[in-house]
Amino acid sequence: MPGLNILAVLAHPDDEGVCGGTLAKNVRLGGRSTLICATRGEVGEISDPALATPETLGEVRERELREACALLGIDPPIFLDYRDSGMEGTEPNSDPRAFINADRTEIVRRLVREIRRLRPDLVITFEQFGIYGHPDHRLVSSLATDAFAEAGSPELYPEAGEPWQPAKLLYATFVREWFQRWIEATRQQGEEPPPRREMGTPEAEVTTFVDIRDVLDIKRRAMLAHRTQISPSGAWGKEWTEEQKQLFGIEAFVRAAPAACSRRTRRAVRSSRVASVIACCHATG
Ligand SMILES: [Zn+2]
Repeated sequence: MPGLNILAVLAHPDDEGVCGGTLAKNVRLGGRSTLICATRGEVGEISDPALATPETLGEVRERELREACALLGIDPPIFLDYRDSGMEGTEPNSDPRAFINADRTEIVRRLVREIRRLRPDLVITFEQFGIYGHPDHRLVSSLATDAFAEAGSPELYPEAGEPWQPAKLLYATFVREWFQRWIEATRQQGEEPPPRREMGTPEAEVTTFVDIRDVLDIKRRAMLAHRTQISPSGAWGKEWTEEQKQLFGIEAFVRAAPAACSRRTRRAVRSSRVASVIACCHATG
């Protein structure tokens, strides 16, 4: 089964944890996977002070993402060079270089330019709440959605290249019920669970599941390349139970388009290989 040309548009190094298995699997099916990362995650927490300082964190995280992409087998990441805006209500929100303070039209123009250059069949970004509400995740979801809708229009951004309409837009998410079961299991093991219970999307609303168990080990190594964020003694470094393998071994998406897009896009869908969605999907695509 042929692979696709997939473009993922995310906010920080390590965000590809939501879809990295799909990107890796697509390459193994003969496709091309590219990741756009809006920032270098400059204000993330540093797992080990020996690895970086707040001043060097951006460049260290860029290197980590480059290594992760190489491990996944996907193209080198494209950085938009904005600054990490930090969690809602924190001081980095007001930095003029922060992604959330950038000119939205200019960001969409840049994304349209990349879509027209790379000509993806499928665009992936975060679901609209950005999994847990990070302002950069929500913004990148909104702007990637705009760019998806506008890249095919010859009237818009004529200076940004030949129009190209990707056939499909998927929102990457977690299955909420699975995540809650994992929290319960973690709690029973006496470990401190992650703080947020309402992450992700109810299972009934997920449209597309991608079984990534055959590339799970590659994804795990790619996640562990994010040394400043992900400790080898945490969830990604441990021996997994069967339940955890299910949680980590299936990536979940909500189809955002073609459901709500133009007749032209619907024609594009019918005529493209996306009819088989990422060849590995085993659900409604
Ligand atoms: Zn992030």
